[in-house]
Amino acid sequence: MSWQSVIGQQRVKDLLARMVGSGRVPSALLFEGPEGVGKDAAAIELAKVLNCERGGTEACGECSSCIQAAALQHPNIQLVFPLPRGENETKDDGALAKLDEKTVRKVREEIHLKSLDPYHKISIPKAQVIKISSIREVIREDSLSLYQHGRRVIIIMRAEEAGIESANAILKVLEEPTPGTVFILTTSRRSSLLSTIISRCQPLRFDLLTESEVTEALVTRYNLDPSDAALKARLSGGSYIKAVDLIETDTLEVRDQALDVLREIAVGNYSQMAGRASRMLESRDPQKVETLLRMLQIWLRDVAIVHNGARDSVINRDKIDVLEKMEKSFNAASTVAASASVDTALSQLDANVNLGLLFVNLLLTLSGLLNKKSEAQHV
Ligand SMILES: [Zn+2]
Repeated sequence: MSWQSVIGQQRVKDLLARMVGSGRVPSALLFEGPEGVGKDAAAIELAKVLNCERGGTEACGECSSCIQAAALQHPNIQLVFPLPRGENETKDDGALAKLDEKTVRKVREEIHLKSLDPYHKISIPKAQVIKISSIREVIREDSLSLYQHGRRVIIIMRAEEAGIESANAILKVLEEPTPGTVFILTTSRRSSLLSTIISRCQPLRFDLLTESEVTEALVTRYNLDPSDAALKARLSGGSYIKAVDLIETDTLEVRDQALDVLREIAVGNYSQMAGRASRMLESRDPQKVETLLRMLQIWLRDVAIVHNGARDSVINRDKIDVLEKMEKSFNAASTVAASASVDTALSQLDANVNLGLLFVNLLLTLSGLLNKKSEAQHV
């Protein structure tokens, strides 16, 4: 598979390959960037490259080291991630020692799924923090002799979920690096890390993926129809994991929902809007809200395109009659400003925001911008 297993991120891949080629891979790297853009995938690939028996800047994928690494069963490669606490577990217990059989099985299953797809997000019920015992185990094994050849690579995923004790333990090993060992911390919330940890790592910024990168990945990896894949890529906002989550989502249904929202705005139906906002609040599902907002943007973009007379480049081609009606009933010149206000709402979604309030504020703003009647009131 080599670096191709990592979608897009060419700048990062080139940089990592150059580090390997020059023999200057730092002892601690911080892969930071939005969720679902390939930080773990790149970390796993780098671990493979550093252990490939054929050397070079790419993993051959065929040697016994590459095969073990691909299965995430390589003695030199270790994954650390949040785990639940077992009953009566103390700090001196091993990370898995007090977990029940079912949970341990789940941990193994999740690692297996991660080996099949490095974009798989490891998720274990009740896992909240990176336990100090997980860090201690890694350090302890670190002091044992190295396996055959290659470099030991310790990947700490979702590093921001290390509690203060674990974070201090991580800091300690970063301050006294063992020759030959590489730590890779991945995070989508850099600001939640200790600044002392950040300063010990060489940071590498991962960007959002482009729509075409996500589309291509959905088509080749999941056999999606290209136009369906393109729509899902657009709704994902550049996160491959979000796009994969949307595979099961009926995008046509979301499209209708977004259209309903715009119709309510067009006729100034405030009670409908309020009802919708309260349902959003009840759902407590930022992902659902995000998808709906991105779909609203697609509609707004299409209305703007129809308004500018370039009907051929609309996304909702099968709904051209609806778009023409919207263009007439809306204050179409304001669609760009309307889209910008959706952008603002999207940027606020990550914070611990009140979804219902966010949504109702957005609807009022959109209504003010798009509703011809409300414009008449201002005059
Ligand atoms: Zn190899």
